[in-house]
Amino acid sequence: MEKYITIKGARENNLQNINAKIPKNKITIITGVSGSGKSTLAFNTLYAEGQRRYVTSLSSYARMFLGVMKKPDVDSIEGLCPAISIDQKAMGSNPRSTVGTTTEIYDYLRLLFARIGTAHCPECGRRIQKQSADSIISNFLSKENINGRPLLVLSPIIRSQKGEFHELFRTLFRQGYSRVIVDGQMHKTKEEINLEKNHKHEICIVIDRLEVKSKSNDFLFRLKQAIDKACSEADGLVILRVQEGRKHEDYAYSKKYACIKCNINIPEYSPRMFSFNNPFGACPECQGLGFKIDFDEDLVIPDKNLSIAEGAIAPWSSKSTTTYYIQKLKSVGSYFGFDIHTPIKKIPRDKLDVILYGSKGIAIKTLYHHQKNAGSWTTFSPYEGVMPNLRRLLKDTKSEYVKNKIMKFIREKRCPLCNGKRLKKEVLCVKILDQSIMDICEMPIRKLLVFFQTIGAKISMQELKIAERIISEITNRLECLEHIGLSYLSLSRMTKTLSGGETQRIRLATQIGTNLSGILYVFDEPSIGLHARDNNKLIQMLKKIKDNDNTIVVVEHDRNMITESDYIIDLGPGAGIHGGKIIACGSPREIISNENSITGMYLKDIYKIKTPQVRR
Ligand SMILES: [Zn+2]
Ligand SMILES: [Zn+2]
Repeated sequence: MEKYITIKGARENNLQNINAKIPKNKITIITGVSGSGKSTLAFNTLYAEGQRRYVTSLSSYARMFLGVMKKPDVDSIEGLCPAISIDQKAMGSNPRSTVGTTTEIYDYLRLLFARIGTAHCPECGRRIQKQSADSIISNFLSKENINGRPLLVLSPIIRSQKGEFHELFRTLFRQGYSRVIVDGQMHKTKEEINLEKNHKHEICIVIDRLEVKSKSNDFLFRLKQAIDKACSEADGLVILRVQEGRKHEDYAYSKKYACIKCNINIPEYSPRMFSFNNPFGACPECQGLGFKIDFDEDLVIPDKNLSIAEGAIAPWSSKSTTTYYIQKLKSVGSYFGFDIHTPIKKIPRDKLDVILYGSKGIAIKTLYHHQKNAGSWTTFSPYEGVMPNLRRLLKDTKSEYVKNKIMKFIREKRCPLCNGKRLKKEVLCVKILDQSIMDICEMPIRKLLVFFQTIGAKISMQELKIAERIISEITNRLECLEHIGLSYLSLSRMTKTLSGGETQRIRLATQIGTNLSGILYVFDEPSIGLHARDNNKLIQMLKKIKDNDNTIVVVEHDRNMITESDYIIDLGPGAGIHGGKIIACGSPREIISNENSITGMYLKDIYKIKTPQVRR
């Protein structure tokens, strides 16, 4: 394998037919004043050619999507490897992606929650455990005052359902079940059982009748069989009814995740349930976005001192709409008891709700007067309301003008159902050490790292065994993010709100996580916006990538970074047509002793390059 990437005759933009050698598996810094051609050499020549070769190696079908890339103006590049550029451009425009999803940490969290999360009932909050017949038995036998008492093992097949269930009783009889308990009454399945069709009923199959003998192996064996049978009939549920004279005590258990008290079943959880990009997990109200866009009351009625007649309702205050809607609202007002001349702030809330959200189907008689020809007509129809009217208009209108006009009244609001947490309620009720997956995503990475560094001591040995690898993957990635100075971010932070520098560093952290080798990485001023301490960490990260047999090319001004590199290409001497030449190249030591190199002098502290004001 060649030891160098050899560029011959590069003439892209202002490059002046230059030749350069970039050592493989080393860190090369391209320096020079702003506009000297650094980015042209790194991105528009080296990376562009790497990408172009990659794309031409793909099938023609794939190329259709990627488009044809122009060959950079260069005679030849030898020894080029697959290239990845890590620049500061925003990451896609997917409104759903977050720091967590981009770094893949969220994928590991989903796995972790599916493996060791504990479910809680979304209604009453009690912990829900999946149990085996054995754990049900040991829990049951720990109850007091049950020994020696009659026990019914019941399978609750119908819970709060309307119907007559004739067919069900016949089937149960054929299957050999002789007794059922219907709405608290014991019946024999061979007899006719008549139920009120429109009432809700509770039906349990009597699986077995026993006497509790906790020391008897016979009893334990039969109980286990009965529990298994009951659970298989009733979707995982079993009720153990201990009788005492005419009274009885019920102990309900579930082999699945279910709150028997609230009659809520939680599906078996899988990683996809924890994804807000998947309908299984996403909040149904906002489809997993966490926010909704809707018309905002404060934008629709910006000045509450005005009355309706004075144009308080902004979308209806233009001349063409006023007369019509005001006449309607006048009639609505006389029906519901408000006046269109009263300032909005003095109209009670329930009446304002009618104005904003409509008469809810109540038809209102309205007499309309035509302004110009003095004609009039009467209608008898429900009043739609400002908000529904705007929503309908937005949905139906084909006119960009109308759309732009009413978009002014729209605001992004936190989803009222999930409260911005993007997932279904029952998914958010699955917790690890009292934290839901979204609680975890909302912690700053600094705090989250501590959470995962100490989690091993807080969960059970068994859980640790199941989750150890996942936890170490998560911890590694969090450490990467901390190392590049992003520990103040949270995993739930939307990537679209990150700065260019933050975006680049997140990409960098993700690359380290992927452990690729044989790659050419091209970076654009990764040190921008970093404190000195974080800058050192960044350099360590780049070295880590290099040690994985990768080649790194960095466009950079930062002195620390330059002195820590293996090789320097100094472009110049000036900008634009005065640049584009290689002034010096070599190791930092060689550059320092090169009299021609501005960078060399800079490194020697003789000469300071002004930090460019405008980035190219
Ligand atoms: Zn419950
Ligand atoms: Zn929601």
